[in-house]
Amino acid sequence: MNYRHSLTFKPYWWEAASAEAAGGEIPVPTQCDVAIVGSGFTGLSAALTLARAGRDVVIFERGRSGFGASTRNGGQIGSGNQKFRIKTLIALRGRRKAEEMLREGTRMLDHIAALIETEKIDCHFRRCGRFRAAIRPEHYEAMAADMRDLKEIAGVQSFMVPKSEQASEIGSDVFFGGSVLPNDASLHPGLYHAGLMLRVMEAGGRVIDHTAVVHIEPASGSFRVRTGRGETIARNVIVASNGYTDGLVPELGRRIVPVGSGLIATDEIPEDLYNRLLPKNRVYGNTNRVFSYFRGAPNARRIIWGGREGRFAASASPAAFRHLAADMLRVFPDLKDVPVTHAWDGRIGYTYDEVPHIGQTAFGIHYALGYCGTGVSRATYFGNKIALQMLGSAEGHTAFDDLAFPPFPAHPIARRAVPFVEAWYRVRDTMNF
Ligand SMILES: Cc1cc2nc3c(=O)[nH]c(=O)nc-3n(C[C@H](O)[C@H](O)[C@H](O)COP(=O)(O)OP(=O)(O)OC[C@H]3O[C@@H](n4cnc5c(N)ncnc54)[C@H](O)[C@@H]3O)c2cc1C
Repeated sequence: MNYRHSLTFKPYWWEAASAEAAGGEIPVPTQCDVAIVGSGFTGLSAALTLARAGRDVVIFERGRSGFGASTRNGGQIGSGNQKFRIKTLIALRGRRKAEEMLREGTRMLDHIAALIETEKIDCHFRRCGRFRAAIRPEHYEAMAADMRDLKEIAGVQSFMVPKSEQASEIGSDVFFGGSVLPNDASLHPGLYHAGLMLRVMEAGGRVIDHTAVVHIEPASGSFRVRTGRGETIARNVIVASNGYTDGLVPELGRRIVPVGSGLIATDEIPEDLYNRLLPKNRVYGNTNRVFSYFRGAPNARRIIWGGREGRFAASASPAAFRHLAADMLRVFPDLKDVPVTHAWDGRIGYTYDEVPHIGQTAFGIHYALGYCGTGVSRATYFGNKIALQMLGSAEGHTAFDDLAFPPFPAHPIARRAVPFVEAWYRVRDTMNF
């Protein structure tokens, strides 16, 4: 792997971070209308809706603002409709529910596009389309059938690109064609997060950095929210901690398993080569169970490449990211002389049934989480919906409201089993069964 001597172990997106869009260690107020745990897209989106409705909103963030997945992700935006084969979703949920969920997924994509436009957030949002590459010839046929089902049940447009024409989509011949979802999009996660933060603060919301919520308890129709820097009495609470959820609210902790994902960014790639590798500058993925996802960085001719987290090396060490560079070079051998400049990871919040969940706990704590790695549009949308539900608006209704939220059986074991499950999936990807 070609590591630059000064390989930086922090998200490439943080290079564009704006000092204006930081919360700060401001005092914890004695009371507020709504306390939100977590300053990612879910927390900010909920805060924006609530602050605009006149609520006094305080967001508590354990790290610095946007510390979690929201400033670490790949910036690929879809509807979440690719999580399940359509036939599998129908078998699990029934045709009517599956249709409602899939159609709402498409609305989530439209929601984030409209939000970015109306709020004038400058974050390189682009309807670039997604190319999903088939790892095996039979995956191509299965994808084609799935795309037909998606069109039929949810009206989603797509087209297939056979291997013979795939050079128009990607400068690699390791794949067996692929599908294109032309309405999928991309953005710069750091700039999107910063833009959303600014809108929340302009609307009167407060973001308190480096202030972990350590305990929440009911208190005379409100909640006592204890933090490492003092406590507040909040009429309502939203937990928006997704992959960073711990035992704070045990009912939620048992329902989320954090799964790490790693990313690397290359240095600038010569223009001719870049244009050959990513001729349409889309976002990209493949059909493996343990899959890779990649794209170009906005205005920079760098490739951002993501995949599984390194397991057997210290997290801020070159060894922890070597497998990502190796995967990238298998697809794009011509990048062998292009240095990698940034490497980082983050936590995805997995649920047992692999769908996100929204609602209230037995004690009336609101939550929206469990995006299973597809959360840029879904977290933004669910944050808005949970706020509308709290405000008692009928517009807060979603197709996900009445889904049972199952805990992981043997949760402590499930958390530790992630590397083994992943290893098993890699064996299945390799052996094709
Ligand atoms: C490496 C990676 C790549 C990804 N790529 C994509 C992609 O390309 N496309 C896509 O759609 N999705 C992607 N995702 C998923 C997406 O980023 C997330 O689903 C989304 O950002 C979740 O937003 P959130 O606000 O719910 O959670 P987060 O952004 O993770 O925020 C949760 C926050 O809660 C804070 N917190 C936790 N507990 C406490 C506490 N007790 N007190 C105070 N604060 C607390 C954490 O510090 C954290 O900042 C990716 C995720 C990762 C990790």
